[in-house]
Amino acid sequence: MSEILRRANVPIKVVGGPHVTHYAKETMNLGADAIFKHDGDRNFNEWLNSGCKEGIYEDYIKNIDTLPFIKREFPGFELEDYMLSGEDTQKTLFKQRSLRRLAMMSSKGCPFRCVFCDVQDKEFRFLSPQRVVDEMEHLLSCGANSIHILDDCFNTNRGRVIKICEEIKNRGLKFQWSGRGRAVLDEVTAEALRSAGCIRLHVGIESLDPEVLKWMNKRITIETSEEFCRTCNEYGIEIVAYFVIGAPMETREYRQELPYRIKDLGVKYPFFNILYPSANTKYYHQLMANGTYKTDYWQAFAEKPAPNFEIPFPRSQELQEELEETAEKCIKIFFNGNNV
Ligand code: SF4
Repeated sequence: MSEILRRANVPIKVVGGPHVTHYAKETMNLGADAIFKHDGDRNFNEWLNSGCKEGIYEDYIKNIDTLPFIKREFPGFELEDYMLSGEDTQKTLFKQRSLRRLAMMSSKGCPFRCVFCDVQDKEFRFLSPQRVVDEMEHLLSCGANSIHILDDCFNTNRGRVIKICEEIKNRGLKFQWSGRGRAVLDEVTAEALRSAGCIRLHVGIESLDPEVLKWMNKRITIETSEEFCRTCNEYGIEIVAYFVIGAPMETREYRQELPYRIKDLGVKYPFFNILYPSANTKYYHQLMANGTYKTDYWQAFAEKPAPNFEIPFPRSQELQEELEETAEKCIKIFFNGNNV
């Protein structure tokens, strides 16, 4: 971003998003003319119509149901530009070229507080079921035949999920869709999802070690994840599951068993990440508090971004290398080296 701000040869430079919500002044010092903290959906428009004055603007929209759809149809609109592709994901997952797959948000934020998570918005604000399905219909009218709900935690409110499914069915809409949420699912919800066209759920299972789950403040248990997987498999909903390795109390033995245990769960597409101290996460603050980090690297980076910035590993070089090898090995073992 600092590079873009430096190089952009435009009269006004505007920045929004989670980074500037935390580092607004620092970003102004890097050359931005206006910053939009939290939600820019409403005040950006007002700002445009009132002379584009320099400054830091902040808005938080409690009721997001009133927001209009993202404008997707305009002269020069190319569906291809908005389609989700699989370039940076496992190849077999999204490379179904016959699918015209568009993304939408049905909610903002997540009320949970996993220690490593950088979702900053801790309030769950959501669209009503009618408004969600209105937007789905809008995407279908734009030419999509597949939709991905790219929320932080789509299924936070079970009742809302069921009503969305009922609304899709009541309107007679036939398309396939997927959503990003938590590894929590009961049979009634699974039945509602599947019969409304949901073919896949993307969830963070993160760990199959109870101590690690507790440390992560994940607020799910292994049993919850097992039930989630069992139910998905029973109702024909594919599982994309994210796992994090490298928690302080995790053992090497656990990591070696992990891909086999994931296979047993019936997860179709696992992703493996190494625990990372993202900015403003509880994990990062713990590392600062316990003296692992003696400098606030993220603050320094926000003030003076350097190309190829890397925060030091919060572990030995040897362990870091082992984790990197393990993450690669997990993928190979899981897919038998054929599909990745
Ligand atoms: S990891 Fe998922 S459940 Fe946990 S806080 Fe982040 S978005 Fe919420």
